[in-house]
Amino acid sequence: MKKARILVQGIVQGVGFRPYIYRLAKSNHINGYVRNLGNIVEIIAEGKNQDINNFSKDIKRKKPPISKINSMEVEWITDNHEQLYEDFQIQESSANFSGSSVIPPDLAVCDSCLKEIFNNKDRRYEYPFTACTDCGPRFTVINAVPYDRERTSMEKFPLCLDCLYEYRDVENRRYHAEATCCPVCGPQVFLHHLESKNPIKDAVELLDDGQILAIKGIGGTHLVAKTTEDLPVSNMRERLGRFNQPFACMAPDVETIRTFAEVEDLKNIHSYPVGDP
Ligand SMILES: [Zn+2]
Ligand SMILES: [Zn+2]
Repeated sequence: MKKARILVQGIVQGVGFRPYIYRLAKSNHINGYVRNLGNIVEIIAEGKNQDINNFSKDIKRKKPPISKINSMEVEWITDNHEQLYEDFQIQESSANFSGSSVIPPDLAVCDSCLKEIFNNKDRRYEYPFTACTDCGPRFTVINAVPYDRERTSMEKFPLCLDCLYEYRDVENRRYHAEATCCPVCGPQVFLHHLESKNPIKDAVELLDDGQILAIKGIGGTHLVAKTTEDLPVSNMRERLGRFNQPFACMAPDVETIRTFAEVEDLKNIHSYPVGDP
């Protein structure tokens, strides 16, 4: 039996990298473990020479779409040829190692999660904080690396049994999804100072009425107002004392934006020199 220690640096935490390594190890007949070590991912691979070679080639070739490998070191362990591992495992993280790592940004909801949100038979029906290993918050919930739930702001929301089952199931797309939750165990939406059975719908109505709302979400708090009328925007400018600042506009797609603004060809927008408004 050969053994190798593989260290991977880059965007490798919070992107479903460990479950991915687990599946890759299984398909290449590799035993050992993977764990987050400080800012990097450490893999101990035990198996036949050829299998370890194929495994390490696959790591770069088939990596998860959001991940980015900046460097990968393969170091053969030559002093022990006994079989030490019975299977391949995802181990608990260890904090005592440092290297450079990049924490991924928050990711827009993926198609699989959207399907659940709009399926009235799904337990996450209409639940706005639905996330999985492919999507959801990262940067704004991480307090420290290694990226594990206990070092994120989701720590305050212990997983319910159903979520825990998904989190521990290797075949599930929420396996080790650190920000996963559901209506039973996760954060809830509510309107401050107002009784509401449907806070999102009521918030939309308040905006339509020209009110200014502060929406506290995973990425901090946004002040929002209806932009298709002058009064809510000028009220907000007045109160913030920002008379000339361009505000960000939110819209579901470019077609919607075209109904209230002129949209240039995207190619032209990209060709502006830096610093030229
Ligand atoms: Zn998702
Ligand atoms: Zn849950």
